[in-house]
Amino acid sequence: MNLTSCRVAGKPLAALSLSCARLPSRQAAEEVIAAAVAGGVRYLDTTPGRHEAGEAWVGAALAGCRERVILAARGPADGADAVRARIEASLARLAVARLDVYQLGGVRTAEDFDRAQEPGGWLEGAQRARDEGLVRHLGVSGDAEAPELRRWVRSGWVDVITVPFHLLDVSRLRGIRFAAEQGVAVLAAHPLASGFLASSSAVLARDMAEFGVVSATDLALRYVSSHAGVSALCGASRAPEMAESAALLSRPLWPEALAETLRRRFDALLQSGDEYCTGCGYCTPCTAALDLPGLLRLRQFQAVLGMESARREFRTKFASDVHYQADLCHNCGLCGRRCPRQIPVRSLLAEIMATMGQGLGWATPHAGQCPTVGAE
Ligand code: SF4
Ligand code: SF4
Repeated sequence: MNLTSCRVAGKPLAALSLSCARLPSRQAAEEVIAAAVAGGVRYLDTTPGRHEAGEAWVGAALAGCRERVILAARGPADGADAVRARIEASLARLAVARLDVYQLGGVRTAEDFDRAQEPGGWLEGAQRARDEGLVRHLGVSGDAEAPELRRWVRSGWVDVITVPFHLLDVSRLRGIRFAAEQGVAVLAAHPLASGFLASSSAVLARDMAEFGVVSATDLALRYVSSHAGVSALCGASRAPEMAESAALLSRPLWPEALAETLRRRFDALLQSGDEYCTGCGYCTPCTAALDLPGLLRLRQFQAVLGMESARREFRTKFASDVHYQADLCHNCGLCGRRCPRQIPVRSLLAEIMATMGQGLGWATPHAGQCPTVGAE
């Protein structure tokens, strides 16, 4: 396992970390954690607010290897006394005497962060727990933007941050770099874009063969962890899933500049072809209320990169979100006339249904055009 440049609680932060939020059972927790530790993972995020029962499973699974891991939990911005109670409850469920990291969770805005630092607030309770030896390091978790991340780091009490960071969202990169420069460990949340990048891609593997890229998953994980001080925080519900991620990240990471070059190459590949939709939204609103940029984006991932995950995502959204039911297009033709790139939206929607919508029980697309509006 490659190591990033950061240490937390005296232990090196590995390229891969484990989010325990998706553990489905005590048995799975034992197997996933065993696979994680065997694969070199050090940081375990127990996220008790979302999955309290899981903390007891994690505690049981850690018997015999507690000292090998960096054990982290997080909680909402309660008042000082409530924070203390939450930490004690986590310690009891995990059956440990001390947490290595305790994070303020769900921080989205500057106000969230400021409120936590008010007298009697989260920070006061967390610092008290740290002074009493219940916690070693404090951190912040959330999805604030890059300038706000810098403020977190400058506060002086933050040792670890957890923020979304992946190939499709690098908007926080400056803040992440700043954190790493200041010695603050960064856990990259959703490194696989909530599972979207967990996919094979023969196109990527062919194009990036010289860099040893074998799949979209591989590129996504190694891209994130190739940044100094950053560890990819992955969830897993089964041991083979964990072992697969650990195996991918046991391979050489790239210098950060090369990782950025590969990301740009990924973008360029994705944008290749005449029918690339920029997502500008000029074609909207669709008279059938379809999310046209969203649909065309999924098509691009599937048609250009051959990513199975796009098909999976489309089928999930089709079943639950009327804005993704591409067969509802009634051929009014407005979108095509509005698009500055003259993208044949209607025919691409038909292509989406034909290539990704098999067996979904959709209506036959309307063949005619709206007589009052005309053709695309
Ligand atoms: S042609 Fe179809 S996709 Fe385009 S605006 Fe009309 S209903 Fe929406
Ligand atoms: S106007 Fe064209 S490029 Fe812009 S979102 Fe619509 S289809 Fe895509």
